[in-house]
Amino acid sequence: MNHKEALKHNIFKTISKSAAELNLDSYVIGGFVRDYLLQRGDAKDIDVVAIGSGIALAKQVAKNLPNKPKIQVFKTYGTAMLKLDTIEVEFVGARKESYNEDSRNPTVENGTLQDDQNRRDFSINALALDLSESNFGDLLDPFNGVKDLGDKIIRTPLDPDITYSDDPLRMMRAIRFAAQLGFSIEKKSLDSITKNSERIKIITNERIVVELNKILCSKKPSVGFLLLERTGLLKYILPELTALKGIDEVEGQKHKDNFYHTLEVVDNISKHTEDVWLRWAALLHDIGKAPTKKFSKKVGWTFHAHEFEGSKMVYQLFKRLKMPLNDKMKFVQKLVFMSSRPIVLAQDIVTDSAVRRLVFDAGDYVDDLMTLCEADITTKNPKKFNKYHNNFKIVREKIIEVEEKDSVRNFQPPVSGEEIMKTFNLKPSREIGMIKEAIKEAILEGDIPNEYEAAFNLMVKKGKALGLKISD
Ligand code: ATP
Repeated sequence: MNHKEALKHNIFKTISKSAAELNLDSYVIGGFVRDYLLQRGDAKDIDVVAIGSGIALAKQVAKNLPNKPKIQVFKTYGTAMLKLDTIEVEFVGARKESYNEDSRNPTVENGTLQDDQNRRDFSINALALDLSESNFGDLLDPFNGVKDLGDKIIRTPLDPDITYSDDPLRMMRAIRFAAQLGFSIEKKSLDSITKNSERIKIITNERIVVELNKILCSKKPSVGFLLLERTGLLKYILPELTALKGIDEVEGQKHKDNFYHTLEVVDNISKHTEDVWLRWAALLHDIGKAPTKKFSKKVGWTFHAHEFEGSKMVYQLFKRLKMPLNDKMKFVQKLVFMSSRPIVLAQDIVTDSAVRRLVFDAGDYVDDLMTLCEADITTKNPKKFNKYHNNFKIVREKIIEVEEKDSVRNFQPPVSGEEIMKTFNLKPSREIGMIKEAIKEAILEGDIPNEYEAAFNLMVKKGKALGLKISD
């Protein structure tokens, strides 16, 4: 089969010419070919394998391009990268890898195209297109990858036990591709992943998180997480989630299975947002429920303060997985911490003051928090489902209303501490805090508008009540 039309971009002609000048063969391989055949849209990453030096080929290509771009060379890996407007081309020499039992890293030697295809993880990732001038666009498919693309199946080129044991990250990659592409994993492979799951422990957290994020960014993330759970991988990666599994029953009282509930919430939210951090918040919103679960005869099952516990766990989890401990982590923490607030609101009559407090506490995260809470409605009772959604609609409308009126989103006190000190001729003291708090409370309760004059008058009143005198 020939697929010249996949190689319309000028860069391929340049690579072809450059390789001929160096008298070596080159191929485009892996994800680019797979995604072309799946018509997944224009790929941004192009992997080129040279039968010889990848770095030399990259240099030659750069020389032949009119703007003589700079290439980035990674000597230790024997690779080089070239950036063209929106595309990144990575050049590598064909490699033969052999793993041995005790080492994580394989011994690498120069190899043929066939050797290089053998070390690829899946049949669909081993597809290559010839870039030589004479066979430009010819497909090389030694493991029937095209058939597997048609059958929507993830299959390893070699015995799966070898493939997964050699590089256990491939277990996660298999699941990630299944989730991203809507493929199934061949039974032999799935059994092998289950058998080898513990070996995921030798993989660095950074690499694991890359795959987790990709699963989380897929259209229906539960597909990937269910596979992670079924194969036993999840308990090594995110034990906080597997701890949510199961339904306990005491004296005829049950609670819901919070693991499956969580996955439903993640799927729900994924219909409304592409933001991976908001999806993380959905994934982790109930993790505090496992350590806080209690049963009492009086009230049945409770998860007291699970939101607080959960938000603390978010930090530990991010730290363990070497995820960023920055504002993204704080965002997830805050959403987990506040994840029950709107629901409590929606069960009752929605008052302005409750909404004002919600906006005050959530700040700029309030819209995302609402999106999370809407996704959290997984009740199968249509009456309740409609009631909660309708109430959330009212909450959203009220948020806009109180924002227009009182703008408490990023609350700044209308009367400053300095002004209070000046008015009552005070040194820094407890009274200032008390007056400021009273003003804030009055605004949130709706007793006064969020305006200077009303706040000033309240300050005077409150100061007098505290026995303070206005200075001259
Ligand atoms: P995506 O761009 O969606 O992440 P991809 O397949 O291009 O998909 P990369 O991680 O960029 O993913 O890998 C490029 C190619 O390198 C793959 O198609 C595969 O052939 C090979 N590859 C990557 N990681 C491994 C691995 N752990 N084991 C074997 N081959 C791998």
